Amino acid sequence: MYQIKESSSELVTQHYLGMTYESRPMYYLKVSQPSNKAKKIIWMDCGIHAREWISPAFCQSFMKENYKTDPKIKSFLQNLDIYILPVRNIDGYIYSWTTERLWKKSRSALVNGTCFGTDLNCNFNGSWGSNSLTFCGTGPESEPETKAVARFIEKRKSDVLYFLTIHSYGQYILTLYGYKTDLASNHQDLVRQRNHAPCQCKGLRLHELCFLSFSNVQVEAAEKAEVTLKEKHGTNFTVGPTSLVLYKNSSSLRDWAHMIGIPFFYTFELRDKGAYGFILLPDQIQPTCDETTTAVMTIIEYVNQKYFPNSAVAVTSGSLWLWLIVLFTRTLS
Ligand SMILES: [Zn+2]
Repeated sequence: MYQIKESSSELVTQHYLGMTYESRPMYYLKVSQPSNKAKKIIWMDCGIHAREWISPAFCQSFMKENYKTDPKIKSFLQNLDIYILPVRNIDGYIYSWTTERLWKKSRSALVNGTCFGTDLNCNFNGSWGSNSLTFCGTGPESEPETKAVARFIEKRKSDVLYFLTIHSYGQYILTLYGYKTDLASNHQDLVRQRNHAPCQCKGLRLHELCFLSFSNVQVEAAEKAEVTLKEKHGTNFTVGPTSLVLYKNSSSLRDWAHMIGIPFFYTFELRDKGAYGFILLPDQIQPTCDETTTAVMTIIEYVNQKYFPNSAVAVTSGSLWLWLIVLFTRTLS
């Protein structure tokens, strides 16, 4: 993080988020193009489950993307700032390196220090403790790692447009909502979130159709991401809401994101499909990072174009001019 911050200091800054249970500081990186304009936020976190080592590797790789020269990144940085937390479960992650490779949870001590760890994915304050097979803490947000993220996001909830959370394994892009049939079940809850309507992005008033189109945009973006991901190395991913494509689980993180009204929420389950599982082979790391970066970029770009159509036009016309200049220069030479 330090190296990236130093080498891209005009765009990347490092910020303190909170402390882990074992008193390790948590930092996130903010990628932001200086501007007076109010921007929306993309939040991305990795390393929630300790043993999923490919996840922090991806966040690290994503941070190395060339923010300065890539025209796509430059175009969406006009409207968006990216916040990246490369390892949420730092204590567990270190424990998986030093002691138990397949450790999943945090390292908080319970029952007089005889029992360790909370699943940080189900410790949020949204349907907490319902239907989970792993230990979700002594109460909602009982863990400092959860509290730090929840407080940070809640303070900025009207600005958070995307929440991306990276796991392994299974090769899925999981969405918060599905198409129309799935929408009905959560539609009324969403309407209640009047203070944070996704359509405010477009300056429109909240109305029902807005949610419908927004839900479809979310799935469409994920489907486009699945296609571009496959083009990279031929890897097949499945897209859909967790309850339909995976299993009916209780992720209080997802319910919480839904509850506070985050418009775009995606969970990635990276390679593979079980052959090596959490112990992914080293030669899989780079291609996994490459294809996931492509997918994440596709989602960001797609939604950016849908929700900030003016900037997309500006970029397109800029590219057109550039193309004409190149053509003109070539004709002359
Ligand atoms: Zn996981």
